[in-house]
Amino acid sequence: MRLPAVAQRFGVSLFAVGLLALPALGASAPKEAAIERAAARITAASAFEIVETLASPAMEGRLSGTAGYAKAVDFIVAEVKKAGLGPLAELPDYRQPFTHGLGGVESATLTVLPAEGEKDDVPADAVVLKDWCPMVNGGSGDVTTEVVFAGFGIHAPEAGHDDYANLDVKGKVVLVLRGEPETGDWQDHRSTVARTLAAANAGAAGFFLVDSAVLSTSVGISRDLPEAMVSEAFADRLLAGKKLTVAELRKILSKGGLASFPTGRRIRLAVRAKPWRDVTTHNIVAVLPGSDPALKGEYVLVGAHLDHIGDWPRLNPGADDNASGSASLLEVARAAASLKARPRRSIVFVWFAAEELGLRGAEHFASHPPKGLEKCVAVLNLDMLGAGNGLYIAGGENFPQIRAAMEGARDRLVPGFVLKAGRIRGEGRADHAPFFERGIPAVSLFGTGGEHHGYHAPEDTVYFITPKTMESGGRIVLGAALALAEEKP
Ligand SMILES: [Zn+2]
Repeated sequence: MRLPAVAQRFGVSLFAVGLLALPALGASAPKEAAIERAAARITAASAFEIVETLASPAMEGRLSGTAGYAKAVDFIVAEVKKAGLGPLAELPDYRQPFTHGLGGVESATLTVLPAEGEKDDVPADAVVLKDWCPMVNGGSGDVTTEVVFAGFGIHAPEAGHDDYANLDVKGKVVLVLRGEPETGDWQDHRSTVARTLAAANAGAAGFFLVDSAVLSTSVGISRDLPEAMVSEAFADRLLAGKKLTVAELRKILSKGGLASFPTGRRIRLAVRAKPWRDVTTHNIVAVLPGSDPALKGEYVLVGAHLDHIGDWPRLNPGADDNASGSASLLEVARAAASLKARPRRSIVFVWFAAEELGLRGAEHFASHPPKGLEKCVAVLNLDMLGAGNGLYIAGGENFPQIRAAMEGARDRLVPGFVLKAGRIRGEGRADHAPFFERGIPAVSLFGTGGEHHGYHAPEDTVYFITPKTMESGGRIVLGAALALAEEKP
């Protein structure tokens, strides 16, 4: 049992407290000065130190289900315990286990073969991390075949758009661009998974995706189809025989036009994936119990994904994505634990596993909510707080009460810090989504106003982190979480 703040301050004995008429419910809420003191414990230096630990080679890029990820879990659990936060009764070691499939790349080569009729054109090996990168959890395959361009890779004849119409991709490698026509509703077709499935269903033997000018990797879905991201410059090389560029094609496609054609360019694509197996991984859950017996069953969830994309072909430190959010969350949890008085509702801190493999950890938590905590009133998910000079609140326009809590905390704790709010729909590329889909007010917070350097690439290192964003963002999240946990029902 924990003594109420007043009792602690005056050294009142437990026995004496029992005799006191207890104050009205909610009267034990943290005072503004105490919140300010707690917020001041969240510092750029301390947050940065956590990022350094999580992004270190020992953590192997924190791919969910690997030994490196387990090390990150051990580190966070130890720190949470040290901070004095308790676990859920049902998860006494703070770990919420679940299983997911895991593959991984064993080896991968991509060779551009001489174009027909061009005698001087010699085979050229594409360079991993410059020209291309196989996807995490993509499949195996060794094919020598032609590359076929298939627009945005959207198969939606019912919506009047089919990039695969009159296109033979059987046994070929399909090249598609991320994007969608400016008009129309492409919600069911825009994910990497949907685009990959469309290619697989059309009979493709391989799948290339051009994301943006910067090469990053992504997560595949298939066990028997090699999948890779390719850089825009490399895609331009594949398209050169048709005298077209990605930029030109993107313009045509954005206007709703179709541009699907064989490129005439042959390649050899050979990817060997690690054997697919089921692995056990863990979310981490810690609780600050609410002070009001009638409301402590309700909770505010503050979360961040702890996992990243692993270490193939070399370390992906994931300093920004999402050591920064995980570090900010630990700072918020430590600061909240330092408060003697508690808000009425509980605050639950969750480090999610397997976000990079398709929001698996958040999905597992949302579908297995803690027993005895019957209602989640708000979710604040911290994702990539390592860049910029402000926070973008994805969902802030959907949930004005969360936005107001954030802005109120900003005005009190970090005046002038930039907060931007946006609207979200069903599509979720962050861990708020499984909660949002269940009707829970849920937002994701991203650093804004700066470059997220080296997204999903080995360049996402501590050297590009802006620790002040974690400090300011963390302080605001602490203030907002406490306000939401205290708000009148
Ligand atoms: Zn990521």
